[in-house]
Amino acid sequence: MKTRVGFGFDVHRLVEGRELWLGGIRIDHSRGLLGHSDADVLIHALCDALLGAANMRDIGFHFPDTDGEYKGIDSKILLRKTVELIREKGYAIGNTDITLCAERPKLNPHIPAMQHCLAECMGIDPDDISIKATTTEQLGFTGREEGMAAYAVVLIEQP
Ligand code: MG
Repeated sequence: MKTRVGFGFDVHRLVEGRELWLGGIRIDHSRGLLGHSDADVLIHALCDALLGAANMRDIGFHFPDTDGEYKGIDSKILLRKTVELIREKGYAIGNTDITLCAERPKLNPHIPAMQHCLAECMGIDPDDISIKATTTEQLGFTGREEGMAAYAVVLIEQP
């Protein structure tokens, strides 16, 4: 069996007047992430990790933000499409490990719901989805609450 690793990184700006979507779920917060889609930074990093593992370019290549079709789109739809692309190339998803950097709100209570949501979208076991949240100790753009960042690694397998 051939195994391959992929890595993804994404950033979105935090602004007033937007809903906050992370890991496929809506989280109550005073601000939300700005983007062409719902700006779910965690899902975008995960999609890029999946595409990277299969050497299939990146999320912007497949779902361009100049395309009206993707305006305001639920990122879970992008994740489902990404998983389809990976499976069409003959790969199965092993596991993923994701880190989200955000000063606020507290994300730990939402992690089980995110894991279950992503597992359902990806057709894998929630135990194969690790999500970790960290602050950056008030340092940098995440620490100043100007934005959020996410990092993801995934393992895919070709039976
Ligand atoms: Mg993005």
